Amino acid sequence: MDVPFLSLKDVNARYADELKAAAGRVIDSGWYVLGEELTAFEHEFAAYCGVRHTVGVGNGLDALSLILRGYKELGIIEEGDEVIVPGNTFIASFLAISENRLVPIPVEPCQATFNMDPACVEAAIGPRTRAIVAVHLYGQLADMSALAALARRHNLLLIEDAAQAHGAMSDGHKAGALGDAAAFSFFPAKNLGALGDGGAVVTDNSMLAERIAALRNYGSAVKYHHIQRGLNSRLDEIQAAMLRVKLKHLDEDIAWRRRVARRYREGISNAQIQLPYAAREERHVWHLFVVRCSRRDALQQHLQVHGIQSQVHYPVPPHRQPAYAALRGAHLPLTERLHDEVLSLPMGPTLSDDAVDRVIEACQAFECPA
Ligand SMILES: *Cc1c(COP(=O)(O)O)cnc(C)c1O
Repeated sequence: MDVPFLSLKDVNARYADELKAAAGRVIDSGWYVLGEELTAFEHEFAAYCGVRHTVGVGNGLDALSLILRGYKELGIIEEGDEVIVPGNTFIASFLAISENRLVPIPVEPCQATFNMDPACVEAAIGPRTRAIVAVHLYGQLADMSALAALARRHNLLLIEDAAQAHGAMSDGHKAGALGDAAAFSFFPAKNLGALGDGGAVVTDNSMLAERIAALRNYGSAVKYHHIQRGLNSRLDEIQAAMLRVKLKHLDEDIAWRRRVARRYREGISNAQIQLPYAAREERHVWHLFVVRCSRRDALQQHLQVHGIQSQVHYPVPPHRQPAYAALRGAHLPLTERLHDEVLSLPMGPTLSDDAVDRVIEACQAFECPA
């Protein structure tokens, strides 16, 4: 019996009856796009995050991109402006910026948390800087109070890429409520996952929410009347219905992820394997449990031999991708090292205690090859 990295089949099997009933309700309704399920989910997710507005969109990339586009439409940022972003993130954080003809300025993370280093952010602020995109990497909140202070001092927008951090909390406020606007992804493997693609923008800013609600629907608030050149990026009724079921169970899932993380952190003590840092429990929802190892490939191979699947998030940083040849010269030594050393262990709301024990045992047995 192998230990899979994440079994989406198991994740959704737990709620199969509820999911099928919800899908049936949509099928029978005869209404499949921009309907009651979406409106209900938007209210429920806004309440969960503690913000005024949720706008459901097609995916997480579009959510982040539409936030920037919305601010452009409102005249707050313009083409050619700079946006500071972590060098070590999933490429979507960069794509949303360049898609809007804005300039991504990658910065280094803190050693301990893998999240944006506020000192590096401050050093990167220039006359054309308009926004910071903070990514809550692997499910752990970035240092939002430090970043908010910087944003205030330099009059910058603070945008959260919360695709990995649904439900993470700081001082009673959840991811999504810690900046000017936030983007979520509901890709099936995220902590709150649909059964297909999905995403959402959340914000307290009514003008921004209104713009984005129009932009996602061809730039129209009233059918066939187009105030902007929008796109088609909507969260459909079936996915909204799936997400309403899964949102009800999100906090239980987060609790189980925290339990898995606690057991890994208590059970693994191998000098070759550096465990992830987590300050306060509420700040981390453990989308991924990422260790560091100078012989990462050997560790992954060793786990594989023991029937344990692991993954690398991410093998190549965006500034080293062919897609971002223009950023090749960026000096990001820590970011580059992390990409060679990180390894994500199995993690998820259905990972059994036995499976966790097996991962711990295999990690304990790992010896660096000479
Ligand atoms: C998944 C992810 C996205 C993109 O979400 P999609 O729904 O896949 O488009 C953006 N940023 C981060 C950090 C992600 O993990």
